[in-house]
Amino acid sequence: MITLPDKYKLAHLPTPIEALKQQYGANLYVKRDDLTGMELSGNKVRKLEYLVHDAKQKGCQVLITCGGIQSNHARATAVAAVKAGMKAHLVLRYDGDSLPRRGNVFIERQFGAKITIISPQQYRDVEQIMADLAADYAKEGLKAYPIRVGASNAIGNFGYINAFNEILEDERRYGVSFDTIVCTIGSGGTYSGLFLGNYLTGAGKRIVGINICDTADYFKTEVGRIANQTLQLLGKPADLVAEQFEIIDGFAGRGYALSTDQEIEFFKQIVKQEGILFDPVYTGKAFRGLVTTLTEVPQKIVDKPNGNVLFVHTGGLFAVFSKEDLFY
Ligand SMILES: *Cc1c(COP(=O)(O)O)cnc(C)c1O
Repeated sequence: MITLPDKYKLAHLPTPIEALKQQYGANLYVKRDDLTGMELSGNKVRKLEYLVHDAKQKGCQVLITCGGIQSNHARATAVAAVKAGMKAHLVLRYDGDSLPRRGNVFIERQFGAKITIISPQQYRDVEQIMADLAADYAKEGLKAYPIRVGASNAIGNFGYINAFNEILEDERRYGVSFDTIVCTIGSGGTYSGLFLGNYLTGAGKRIVGINICDTADYFKTEVGRIANQTLQLLGKPADLVAEQFEIIDGFAGRGYALSTDQEIEFFKQIVKQEGILFDPVYTGKAFRGLVTTLTEVPQKIVDKPNGNVLFVHTGGLFAVFSKEDLFY
């Protein structure tokens, strides 16, 4: 177990683990981090527990964050702000005409978050845009706390170090030992946290990520950067290098938040087979990557046949309800 800083309690933990019905040559289990909450569902709340604590410590009243128009992280931040007695201001990337009303945007509006829409071109400067917003709040006498995309930063990473600790307890609770933990990579914090948990405890598992946008090489560098920041914060040598990370490429399809017919067919089939809803943007793509890789090149996931593999279901439920047309 790794001792972590205090957090602001927001998530329903521990989340349950289920064995899948179909095994694909491994013993496949799913950690249901889509059940960390209803409004707060998914992986971002684990990171926000540490960030909200830090923001309150620093006397901040406003959480500012960013993402795509149907960002699960932006929605979780909107809800966390209400729970913590703060305000949320979301900077969302969108190139359409009228603001969508469905999915995560619906929740954000009901929870009273302020939304600023910017174009994909403007989004390249989103860090500066958030800093400018923070300066505007300061003029009104409010202290703002900007959170980078996906809450994947030095402090956000504590969320999945904590989840790794929880998985070690789960192993005792369920009487099973996992050889490999697999997760989706969107901004890198979930993978970084799980990797650091394994690395710092010397638990000796394989931590495998499947990227759903960009490339594996991009994320090996990115994960190294944020994981080293966390090590620094913990007062440990920050010397992780890209080659240490196992990230499987080839399942991002048409790119972030875009689906292929093949992917949609896979979701429709897997839902009926397993009785678990995945989302088309993140977990559906990664789970398809997991099943395909287990079938074609199993050693990329697990060393021995019938090893125990835990897939972390990182959520995304509300995004499904912004894209339901795809499924008909
Ligand atoms: C953000 C997100 C991810 C990716 O997690 P990162 O820590 O950003 O890599 C995976 N699944 C869902 C549903 C998400 O919202």
